[in-house]
Amino acid sequence: MRIGVPREIKSHEYRVGLTPGSVRELVHHGHKVLVETQAGAGIGCTDAAYRAAGAEIAADAAEVFAAAELVVKVKEPQTVEFALLRPGQILFTYLHLAPDPAQTRALVESGVSAVAYETVTDANGRLPLLAPMSEVAGRMSIQVGAHCLEKEQGGSGVLLGGVPGVAPAKVVVLGGGVVGSNATRMAVGLGARVVVLDRSLSRLAQIDELLLNTVETAYATMDNIEHHVLEADLLIGAVLVPGASAPRLVGRELVGAMRPGSVVVDVAIDQGGCIATSRPTTHAAPTYLEQGVVHYCVTNMPGAVARTSAFALNNATLPFVLALADKGLVRALSDDPHFRAGLNVHHGAVTHAAVARDLGYAP
Ligand code: NAD
Repeated sequence: MRIGVPREIKSHEYRVGLTPGSVRELVHHGHKVLVETQAGAGIGCTDAAYRAAGAEIAADAAEVFAAAELVVKVKEPQTVEFALLRPGQILFTYLHLAPDPAQTRALVESGVSAVAYETVTDANGRLPLLAPMSEVAGRMSIQVGAHCLEKEQGGSGVLLGGVPGVAPAKVVVLGGGVVGSNATRMAVGLGARVVVLDRSLSRLAQIDELLLNTVETAYATMDNIEHHVLEADLLIGAVLVPGASAPRLVGRELVGAMRPGSVVVDVAIDQGGCIATSRPTTHAAPTYLEQGVVHYCVTNMPGAVARTSAFALNNATLPFVLALADKGLVRALSDDPHFRAGLNVHHGAVTHAAVARDLGYAP
């Protein structure tokens, strides 16, 4: 199959759909890969590295879209890319169509088959192509939280791990899923005192088993949340109710009662946030002070560590890209109902039930 990788053009997006390592695997399977020049430049993957992996380099996006039967990207197509999509072409990327009627209409009109990373499922009911970004965001949350605790950033001047004779910081993690468990590992590793709260006892049991006696777990009742948040130096918001806005677990008053200079990192901000005082921020201006507490609420945290994120994403997407290339769309999706859940638009119709319902395409 002819596979195309355009350079990402969304603002501040440095990731790339296929790394040179992924290209090599596809070429080894007998496929042709065309990569737009400089597509990997933002993460240190040169055109020469792609050539060495067996790719051809295209001068521009138009050449890639014109030649490719399968286009592999990271972000949803931007307006200038809509016109480049062709009927029958397969587009495999993050789409997030439900809140984006304009993009949905453009995909429907283009005649592409669009498979969205974020709606591919697995046998455990999880979202395997979202998980790597949650791992990145979870680990990063402690790194940025530690930075925000510094005086220069408006923080209380607390070192996460403390030092001999001075107690470590208390880190409270709301939600012990992929983000929460990765945040917990990092915080424990830095020597902080960590409490994880969740409504799922099985999640708490897994964290307890994984980290033995280095972490405290608590069921996420209002009482427990209040008790621990009041003592938190760093509060991580990491809850998710799939398909819904994040539940507000911490009210404005409770934030106001935290020690001045404490830090909130609300990773769940992309679903509205689980802390009442959270509002979306960007990498350009990531923090603000509210109720005396430093808030970091960046909606696309993995973008800051684009190289790690691109490689992590490729590890997760490569088996699916190989399935599409080796078997073609119809057989790849009919062989795997979880992959089939990724199909959002096909032959001019919206094929994902939730997207169709939300945007009025339902039959
Ligand atoms: P997950 O499904 O793995 O974990 C969510 C956890 O929240 C689950 O363990 C669940 O039991 C728990 N939970 C649900 N309701 C709860 C409640 N009322 N009280 C306590 N716990 C509750 O999800 P995840 O992959 O860890 O993602 C968490 C959030 O982070 C999502 O909103 C996701 O979109 C977001 N995220 C943001 C970024 C970013 O850049 N800001 C990056 C990746 C993920």
